[in-house]
Amino acid sequence: MDISFILNELGEERELYYNAVAPPIMQTSNFKAATVAELKELFADEYSGYLYSRGLNPTVEMLRKKLAALDGAEDALVFNNGAAASFAAVFAQVKSGDHIVSVRKPYTWSQKMFDDIFPRFGVRTTYVDGTSNAEVEAAIRPETKVIYLESPNSWTYELQDLAFIAGIARPRGIVTIIDNTYCTPLWQRPLELGIDIAMQTATKYISGHSDTLGGVLTGTRAMMRRIFESEYLNIGAGIQPFNAWLLLRGLRTLPLRLEKSAASAVELIDKLEKHPAVSRIIYPFHQSFSQYELAKKQMKGCCGLLTFVVKAHSHAQVSTFCESLKHIMMAVSWGGHESLIMPRCASLEPADFDPANEAHRMLRLYVGLEEPDYLWADLEQAFEKVTWNE
Ligand SMILES: *Cc1c(COP(=O)(O)O)cnc(C)c1O
Repeated sequence: MDISFILNELGEERELYYNAVAPPIMQTSNFKAATVAELKELFADEYSGYLYSRGLNPTVEMLRKKLAALDGAEDALVFNNGAAASFAAVFAQVKSGDHIVSVRKPYTWSQKMFDDIFPRFGVRTTYVDGTSNAEVEAAIRPETKVIYLESPNSWTYELQDLAFIAGIARPRGIVTIIDNTYCTPLWQRPLELGIDIAMQTATKYISGHSDTLGGVLTGTRAMMRRIFESEYLNIGAGIQPFNAWLLLRGLRTLPLRLEKSAASAVELIDKLEKHPAVSRIIYPFHQSFSQYELAKKQMKGCCGLLTFVVKAHSHAQVSTFCESLKHIMMAVSWGGHESLIMPRCASLEPADFDPANEAHRMLRLYVGLEEPDYLWADLEQAFEKVTWNE
């Protein structure tokens, strides 16, 4: 399907709302039925029509259609945030005694679900180095129900070979789930490589304006229905109509924003890697990246999130650098209009800073929609505020 059609027309029924170009926000909790028979049908199958907004809602429906099409999927579900989407996707596959294989160090809240919540229900997780096909395969047990992937991740960008992993999981009846937030469906389509469920955090590029959270699952109609009928309805984690409307608005400009953010990131990488205070760039489309070939093979593009390592000897140097930035903000999240920086050592006590540990010297930069020269000037003046060789 043509991306211009998906973003501008698919799912929009303008004649139903006065031919308005922008869609309405169906801010309603419930929907009236005309007959008892209609009610009966909705009670029996809430996935078939509008009954109550914890289930289906027309504004959310429009978004579901577009997001499914972007991923080349039969169907999509939209949640209130990315963490809720991941939780529902995995929870729907497991029961007591089951086993999960997950990439090491997945997104914080995915890891918490594997470490803190699932063990309470007798579901155990084995973490693997996802860059090794052999290690993923060796971790599979007869009771393995899910392989959980995140490719690339959002700090050091390790990839998994998606086609290979889908190929070993399918014949064993194991469900593969990927957190595809980094690439968005524009630049990586995991379902086409055989992955069962693609998750993405709409909070990032799909929203694009840092004003709402959202989470997406895509997959077969049968899989989405199964998750809808238990986790989605029971946890009540579905997105609200207003937030769905903000995501529809974000989608209109997704290709433009993604391209601008990525192109600016490449410009900044060129400058950063020549700076004497920078020792390394970590970015999947950078020649030095250890999985560069795989990145080029399975990703159509690489977004505006990158990591650079500075030649710092102390926590104070990293802090001074970040606190000297005048325009680039220190904040969590990414994918919005605004550029952001995040020092890895923010989670450390200053005394525990170890210059020999490269991770402590990592800075994650999200490149937003500002002009790259403006951002470089900000980075350059912050580099100058630090005495790097003390
Ligand atoms: C932000 C993020 C999430 C979580 O999304 P929320 O909407 O904050 O719940 C999950 N995975 C990745 C890779 C993220 O960047």
